[in-house]
Amino acid sequence: MPQISFEFFPPQTPRGRVNLVRTAKVLERFQPAFYSVTYGAGGSTRERTFAAVASLRESGVNAIPHLSWSGDREDAIVALLDDYLELGVDRVVALRGDLPSGAGTSRQLRHADSLVRLIRSRIDAPLGIEVAAYPEVHPDAPSASTDIDFLKGKIEAGATGCITQYFYNAEAYFHFRDRCAAAGIDVPIVPGVMPISNYETLVRFSAKAGVDIPRWIQRHLDEIQGDRDALLAFGTEVVSRLCRRLLDDGAPGLHFYTLNKAPPTRAIAERIGLPFPTG
Ligand code: FAD
Repeated sequence: MPQISFEFFPPQTPRGRVNLVRTAKVLERFQPAFYSVTYGAGGSTRERTFAAVASLRESGVNAIPHLSWSGDREDAIVALLDDYLELGVDRVVALRGDLPSGAGTSRQLRHADSLVRLIRSRIDAPLGIEVAAYPEVHPDAPSASTDIDFLKGKIEAGATGCITQYFYNAEAYFHFRDRCAAAGIDVPIVPGVMPISNYETLVRFSAKAGVDIPRWIQRHLDEIQGDRDALLAFGTEVVSRLCRRLLDDGAPGLHFYTLNKAPPTRAIAERIGLPFPTG
């Protein structure tokens, strides 16, 4: 059975948290393995991420946190992890993170492998650790090969799985997966999936994250950007086809970047027939 998961960002307000629980309940019918909640650049959402994970878990869904160094001292991260373990969390997504915009470039970020190492050295509980992977190569990486070498370093440090940056070229994922396998990376590499629902957001995110929007998609989006229904229909069609192709060719699951909205993700999940029957 492919592993399905849904990503949220932490809401600003208690009311936002109530809405997020509602969104999670809508997506629950697709039987996700977990919902993950992001951690803002620079640790800016430490409390809000915790509060969102806590509310979601209280409502009965399996929510897990993202974590990054973000200038925190080791003891602060271990204390936060202990609090998460008390909530029953059994998996985290461990990241380097990015500097908050406007932070300049003078501060050095510590890489994700050192966070994985810290978690393994200080936490006894059997915790799953997901790390980020980049089929289209991380923007800071000197080369595709070194990016894979560093990913291998994160696995050797103790990560148990990878979730990828989103992409719209299935071949980029397959090529990356095969190179990872050849490099001896043997944990699941779950593709990240970004539904297409807002033109400006997609273009902005993709430029920052080094994600290629294929020309044919870009040109079609240019044409329909003012028409919400057409955008949703086109996005559902394109992304559902991508998901089917990924699963048919052996991807171990799908991780949806929901942007806290149920309808675009739900439309894709329904189109591809989730949840798949067991047995
Ligand atoms: P790293 O693995 O440290 O890699 C960053 C860069 O450094 C890469 O170019 C890599 O090749 C290189 N590198 C890695 N290890 C080493 C090393 N030991 N020495 C030298 N170079 C090295 N951001 C957030 O702020 N909050 C989130 O919650 C969040 N969630 C995410 C979830 C997923 C699934 C993904 C794919 C990304 C997420 N991001 C999030 C974005 C992420 O923080 C950025 O992509 C960030 O720039 C890199 O984080 P990383 O963990 O991949 O870093």
